[in-house]
Amino acid sequence: SRAGSLDRSTRGSSSQLSDEDNINVVVRVRPLNNKERGLGGREALQFPGKGQVVCDAGPGQKPKVFSYNVVFEPAATQEDIVEYSGIKRLLEMAVEGFSCTAFCYGQTGSGKTHTLTGPPGLVEKGTSPHAPEHGLVVRSFVHLFRLIRDRPDSHFILKASFLEIYNEKVIDLLNPGSARKPLQVRWSKESRSFYVENLFTVDCEELDDLFAVLEEGMRNRAVGAHAMNANSSRSHTLLCVRVRRDLRADGSVTCSTHGKINFVDLAGSEMTKKTQSSGKTLEEANNINRSLMVLGYCIAQLSDGKKRGHIPYRDSKLTKLLADSLAGNGVTLMIACIAPTKANLSETINTLRYASRAKKIKTKPIVKMDARDALILSLKREVEALQAENQHL
Ligand code: ADP
Ligand code: MG
Repeated sequence: SRAGSLDRSTRGSSSQLSDEDNINVVVRVRPLNNKERGLGGREALQFPGKGQVVCDAGPGQKPKVFSYNVVFEPAATQEDIVEYSGIKRLLEMAVEGFSCTAFCYGQTGSGKTHTLTGPPGLVEKGTSPHAPEHGLVVRSFVHLFRLIRDRPDSHFILKASFLEIYNEKVIDLLNPGSARKPLQVRWSKESRSFYVENLFTVDCEELDDLFAVLEEGMRNRAVGAHAMNANSSRSHTLLCVRVRRDLRADGSVTCSTHGKINFVDLAGSEMTKKTQSSGKTLEEANNINRSLMVLGYCIAQLSDGKKRGHIPYRDSKLTKLLADSLAGNGVTLMIACIAPTKANLSETINTLRYASRAKKIKTKPIVKMDARDALILSLKREVEALQAENQHL
């Protein structure tokens, strides 16, 4: 398997990472922080290998065993995540015209933001995109441009957007004014998907352009959260890079594909319960984690292979925007982030259960192409087949 080389170290282990799986579920365990180390560690997890996590369930109880495509242990590096999580396959698929999503799920403080964008403030400070501390997002940008350079037969147009969903309101992180007037999510008949009306999108010709989008959005997120007296654990962020590819043959464009990759930093998974016990207004309590709860329902429905019922994408802003990659046009990478300590064990088990459910999803991805282009392409293939046949006559 692809992640096999992790087995030889203490950085993690894998079971099988199949090219047919349309949802890859990996787990990342963060290291103990200084405070936890000061308290004597008290780690509650073991890693027997083969993508397994074993949780100590307390005295007299059988340990719980979970298994995933890959488990990244505390010593895993940011580079390991990019090399072995399967994200490179998602990026290749985005370039080929699929809708892809990578999301981090887990309780507050479990390492979601670290995994996606590195230590606090790194991106906001404008640290060079080539600095080694960068997380999955910047490393993916670098890889994306590598993939594009390797395909001189095509012309690419990249467009990026960056939004936040807070209390079911969509805020454009590239246009801070939108915090006062949240944006609307609408259905597009033409592309058969949901989109955010008036969302700022930036043409990105170079790596630095993508990086600037990330930097600007992260800065605005920090400022906005401060102004709303909220912290980032309550909101979701979604950075989307759309990849349009015009395939050329003999100097003329023959076909366009429309792929995309979403990077999603979810609200803390503990929020669902916390809001129920806090003095929030009903609307806030209902809305603050609606997206997180509905994502869970969608995953549960999608993973129930036998009696798959109605999938409630329309019930939250986040699931509307992720529908085309979850629903079968695309490929998803879920990174479940967990803390290693006993104190966090019950949240850790919740996260591991959620991740196990997600692993069962089966979809069949398809390329997004203009209808006219798809027709032309199929006619071209027919002509080529006929020509080949003629040559044999
Ligand atoms: P979350 O976004 O899930 O709330 P963070 O990513 O902010 O969690 O992580 C909480 C703290 O732990 C941060 O200070 C972060 O830098 C640190 N941290 C998380 N994961 C790691 C890791 N793999 N290595 C080093 N520090 C980490
Ligand atoms: Mg965070």
